[in-house]
Amino acid sequence: MHEKCGVVGISLEDRDAARPLYYSLYALQHRGQESAGIVTHDGFQQYSHVEMGLVGDAFDPGDLEALNGSNGIGHVRYPTAGSVNACCAQPFSVSFKSGSLGLSHNGNLVNADEIGDELADLGHAFTSDGDTEVIAHDLARNLLEEDLVRAVKRTMNRIHGSYSLTIMHDETVLGVRDPQGNRPLCIGELEDGYVLASESAAIDTLDGELIRDVKPGELVVLHADGTGYDTYQLVEPENTAHCFFEHVYFARPDSTIDENLVYEVRRELGRKLWEESGVDSDVVLPVPDSGRAFASGYAEAAQDDGSDIEFAEGLMKNRYVGRTFIMPTQDERERAVRLKLNPIKSTIEGKSVTIIDDSIVRGTTSTQLIKLLKDAGAEEVHVRIGAPPIVAPCYMGIDMASRDELIAGNQSVDEIREEIEADSLSYLSIDAIAETLETSRTDLCLGCVTGEYPYDIEGEATDRDVARPDIGTQSSPADD
Ligand code: AMP
Repeated sequence: MHEKCGVVGISLEDRDAARPLYYSLYALQHRGQESAGIVTHDGFQQYSHVEMGLVGDAFDPGDLEALNGSNGIGHVRYPTAGSVNACCAQPFSVSFKSGSLGLSHNGNLVNADEIGDELADLGHAFTSDGDTEVIAHDLARNLLEEDLVRAVKRTMNRIHGSYSLTIMHDETVLGVRDPQGNRPLCIGELEDGYVLASESAAIDTLDGELIRDVKPGELVVLHADGTGYDTYQLVEPENTAHCFFEHVYFARPDSTIDENLVYEVRRELGRKLWEESGVDSDVVLPVPDSGRAFASGYAEAAQDDGSDIEFAEGLMKNRYVGRTFIMPTQDERERAVRLKLNPIKSTIEGKSVTIIDDSIVRGTTSTQLIKLLKDAGAEEVHVRIGAPPIVAPCYMGIDMASRDELIAGNQSVDEIREEIEADSLSYLSIDAIAETLETSRTDLCLGCVTGEYPYDIEGEATDRDVARPDIGTQSSPADD
């Protein structure tokens, strides 16, 4: 499983954009750790610095000084399409007859090959196998015939899939969100300019104010002098397909996405998890860090109900161990869980324990954790998960592993419970998620938990022609 990317774009009145871009990429580091890059423009020419590695390693002070201009875009990447190497690192920048372009993309196109083949037949030469370059070439071609806004509209009408983009055309910074708003993008105001970012935490880092989310199908054009912005609703969506997994796992808890503060969403999901499948154990432990907000909501709802369940930080995380997903083999992933988490025996020994996490993907973390807790003396280990079972891959910018690697790909909840050796296992229902986000299921992308997608994907069902089943709460108590 790979993570998606983070994008940012800044226009300032009278100050170089490189440093604020650098700080905002730091704030978005959780969205991609493979490469980081910034492209700026000073009114005369474009400057670019893109490197493999974390933000802190990719730039030194000299690199930032060389990025001239008060307008720029940035990107942190973990690949979801295209190769894992430097040629796919972003922002993608290139000069065309129609001017210079820089592009940062979060998402995944489902028809990039088709458009790429068409453009190649027209003589466009590609240097990477990523879909971002396809967008850049298509836009450059449209800019030969149309003004900026119409050219973007034409490209939006051709590309299908998920995309939140920050674009630089010469010194103008633009933000575009796909017509179904699958990936997040928001706009904020700084003391001396404006910023577009994947998550509002990046705006906070710059001491800015979140103005609002960019709407699905909307284009935002920042004034190059940093004094304002214009918006254009280029495509009117029939319904949205917001990714619920942003709220459950990906986004920072301190970000506001589509008007919901992620931390509060996770706490409310935790409350609903208790309401749907609470188990009166002695102690409830979050799986750090992803399960923390869920567990606090769960414990609070339990206590409101009169339960004397205790909330404890019984699992300590070694913060210097990277994300376990990035480990290439199963063996390494298992070792990494043990490196990463260690139980505090006194909170566990002789007790019935409930652990709360946001999701189970391959089942590596929960299997290892249950063993760890039982070895540390837990009498019972119950598992509660703040999302429905992940049964299918993601094609929208999150690589959810292949179907046969997913523990819920073709097993029932009870079979999963047996495999991970939990005393009971319950997942949250889809309805609880829609209710918490105050939206309907038809306005969410639920592909990874239903196998039905809001886009046409070869070999997969779309959620427009399949009746959505109501899977309700999915539980497997041991004594079932
Ligand atoms: P697994 O161990 O394969 O079952 O994965 C579940 C664990 O990975 C949970 O602790 C999640 O918080 C975390 N997780 C879920 N999605 C991702 C992702 N895309 N990248 C990294 N970690 C993830």
